[in-house]
Amino acid sequence: MKITMLGTGAALPDPDRAQSAILLTLDNGRHYLFDCGEGATRQMVRANIDPASVGFVFLTHLHHDHICDYPYFVISSWMLNKTGAPLVLGPNGTRHFVEHLFEHGAYHTDFQARSAYPARQQNLEAIRPEVREVSPGVVFEDGHVKISVDWVEHIPREVCECFGVRVEAEGKVVAFSGDTAPCEAMVGLARDADLLIHECTFPESFIAHRAKTGVGTYSHTSPTDLGKIAARAGVKSLVATHFGHFDSTSPVLKRAAAKHLPVELMGPHLLDEIVVDIRKHYQGPLRLAHDLMRIDL
Ligand SMILES: [Zn+2]
Ligand SMILES: [Zn+2]
Repeated sequence: MKITMLGTGAALPDPDRAQSAILLTLDNGRHYLFDCGEGATRQMVRANIDPASVGFVFLTHLHHDHICDYPYFVISSWMLNKTGAPLVLGPNGTRHFVEHLFEHGAYHTDFQARSAYPARQQNLEAIRPEVREVSPGVVFEDGHVKISVDWVEHIPREVCECFGVRVEAEGKVVAFSGDTAPCEAMVGLARDADLLIHECTFPESFIAHRAKTGVGTYSHTSPTDLGKIAARAGVKSLVATHFGHFDSTSPVLKRAAAKHLPVELMGPHLLDEIVVDIRKHYQGPLRLAHDLMRIDL
């Protein structure tokens, strides 16, 4: 299988990183998309993947940096002559999100305008997603993949469930964390995985600064804790992703983040700090994700 890291950034607009989106492509050509943050659709095209050929989407949670490209993805697929209804799985609230987007929601006018054309009437099903809100356990099986999820610790569950994911396909296991603080559920999902793709939002120096200044809450995983999780789960390889702009050199981001990030520390050198801290507990193969990074398993 092939994994394409479509987006490896976090919640802010970043000139160098699109938001969270990971595309898994089996050897038989079937695609499975995990999260659909800003840029996901355009990144597919850059990676030579037709968005209309991606029929499966799993949303780990409903933070905007994991879902905000979803309407663009669906409308683009419709315009790219997708046939059949797109399938979207996600936590509680996914149905509300999707049903308020298209013909009965925010893009109602666009739907009215485009569906006046005969060509667009031929595949109206493409803009009517089938939504499944899921619970922990096996959530999808199609004879090619088996996808299991469990609750991870990120947003209070009464606001939105957040899921980590375990995918079994072609005799391999890949686990994705979504967004989470260190948690036992993720260790379980990643147990003996061939590849764990895990969030690593801030380096230790940023976390220390946030603790000192009392800015914001922190429900993510530090590099040191990520190393512990990867070692405890016994994963065969690790990719860290969902980088919270700490490596950016963008003057706009530095100005905008001044209130809640130690901007004087920002820069690509922090990627080295992350590796040192992950390595304190995990010695296996390790890569830091960048947009359009390709992983063959
Ligand atoms: Zn996020
Ligand atoms: Zn989040």
